[in-house]
Amino acid sequence: MLVSIVESIKEFGSQFRDLLANFDPLTDILDILLVAFIIYCVFLQLRKSQSIQVIKGFMVLALLYVVSSLIGLETTSYIFSSMFSNFILFLIIIFNYEIRQMLENAGRGRFRSRFLFSSGTEDEVTDCINAVCRACGSMSAKKIGSLIIFQRESLLGDLMKQSVEIDAVTTYETVCSIFYPNAPLHDGAVVIRNGRIAAARCIVPLKNDYEINAHVGTRHRAALNVSINYDAIAVVTSEETGMISVAVDGQMRRGLTDSELRELLTSYLIKNKENKKITNILKRGKKNGIG
Ligand code: ATP
Ligand code: MG
Repeated sequence: MLVSIVESIKEFGSQFRDLLANFDPLTDILDILLVAFIIYCVFLQLRKSQSIQVIKGFMVLALLYVVSSLIGLETTSYIFSSMFSNFILFLIIIFNYEIRQMLENAGRGRFRSRFLFSSGTEDEVTDCINAVCRACGSMSAKKIGSLIIFQRESLLGDLMKQSVEIDAVTTYETVCSIFYPNAPLHDGAVVIRNGRIAAARCIVPLKNDYEINAHVGTRHRAALNVSINYDAIAVVTSEETGMISVAVDGQMRRGLTDSELRELLTSYLIKNKENKKITNILKRGKKNGIG
């Protein structure tokens, strides 16, 4: 066993010497920088989509593979090597949702889009915001509970895996009918993507729950969680109090008026708008709690 480790180290040493001998400062450094940049971008994208745990799992398997081949465990390293020979196929299967989303965004040229959450016109974005504000105003008056999450750059694949996919125009009527008490889709959250209702009955994974004030109810906890783990914006209407709340970056402001809600959503979802007033609205809220 010791002999095979020494041989592997020697082989690595000779390969490394060959590499140094053929080193071309210009092209090789450029090559390394480019690959590092691509890996960094993919890593950032996966981190946003919360797939980093899967990557960590792969890293543990890769480490086991290296160790098992170094110490000569033939059967184990054979299994791992056959698995890693299909590595690309594995990645495509596991990250099929994320890859689809990335390609969809690239195809629509949304990476550099003027609007943070829409490839559409400012009017379309404004219509969507108006519909949500009107629906929230109505649900707030009737004390109907709701949780509406606006996807921005981070993909919300984790939330949508067990949801009901919809793809409907965001209107006052669609939002209100989803959250109508005892309607089949009223439980959980609605995700709005590109100005359209993408899914209902989404369950937010409560990953950062320990950071959140213990007195906050589960719907509000879900809103805070999604705003901490993603760059999403969550709007809540409370079944108990009728209040409208918004969670952004782990901060929640409760008791917003319709116009404050509209102002806040407009500033966060349409990039070019002034952000000052919104910062003031949120400053009145407590971090990770309810103001
Ligand atoms: P409210 O002020 O409306 O009573 P709350 O913050 O006190 O809200 P609960 O009373 O516990 O919270 O609300 C429960 C509802 O919140 C559930 O029926 C469900 O629709 C929604 N909810 C709870 N947890 C999640 C979650 N993780 N993801 C999405 N929706 C959730
Ligand atoms: Mg409650």
